[in-house]
Amino acid sequence: MIKENLNIIREQVQAPARLIAVSKTKPVEMLQEAYDCGQRLFGENKALEMRDKHEALPKDIEWHFIGHLQSNKVKYIAPFVSLIHSIDSLAILQEVNKHAVKNNRVIDCLLQFHVASEETKFGLDMQEADELLSSAAFAELKNVRIVGVMGMATNTPDKDLVRREFHRLKEIFDDLKLRYFAGSDCFKEISMGMSGDFAIAQEEGSTLVRVGSSIFGARDYGVKVND
Ligand SMILES: *Cc1c(COP(=O)(O)O)cnc(C)c1O
Repeated sequence: MIKENLNIIREQVQAPARLIAVSKTKPVEMLQEAYDCGQRLFGENKALEMRDKHEALPKDIEWHFIGHLQSNKVKYIAPFVSLIHSIDSLAILQEVNKHAVKNNRVIDCLLQFHVASEETKFGLDMQEADELLSSAAFAELKNVRIVGVMGMATNTPDKDLVRREFHRLKEIFDDLKLRYFAGSDCFKEISMGMSGDFAIAQEEGSTLVRVGSSIFGARDYGVKVND
C-alpha cells in the first residue's frame, strides 16, 4: 500500500518542490518500505522517536524535524538532523547552535511562522522574526544557518483561506529574503503543504511538502508515544 500511495503522491509533487514523508508514530518497517521505494526524506516530530529511527534505518536518509522542539531534546537530534523546520524563538536557536558546536557541524533551520487563523499553532509573527534576525545574539550564532521558512495553514475545508495563508507565507519569505538574506543562495526553502493541502501549497510556491497520512495511512494516537 505504501508503494502505491507514494507513487500517487510523487506524481503530484513537482520540482522544485521535494516530498518529505512524514512518518511520525509509524513503525520502522513502514519507513523501510518507503525507503525501498526510493524515499530518502523523512519527517518526524518527536526527538527521541527520530533518534531511534535514525539508529535503526539506513544512514543516507535525510531527517527533517517538523515538530515543536524542546530545549532539553535538541541533543538527541543534533548529531544527524538535516533540517529543523520549527524554530520559533531565539532561545531554541541558541540551543541548537550550542549542540551544533558540540557536534562540529552547521545545522540548517527554518523559521516557523504563524500564518493560520487558529490560535493553537506555534510560530513567529513578522515582528518577532525581525527582533530575532536583527539581534546581536543571533549574529553570534555560527553553527546554525537559516535556509527558509515553514508554516501550517488552518485545518479547514475553506480552500481560499488555506491559499491566502500559504500566499502570506510566500510573502514573508520574499520579504525576509530581500531584507536579511539577499546575498544568500541558501535561503531558498518554503516548507508548506500537508496531505490535505499540498497541491495548493505548491501553487503558492512550496519547496518542501510534508505528507504523512496520504502515504502511511491515518495515525493512531491512542497510545502515547514516549518523548
Ligand atoms: C503530522 C504533520 C504533517 C503531516 O500531516 P498529514 O496530514 O498526515 O499529511 C505535516 N507537517 C507537520 C508539522 C506535522 O506535524
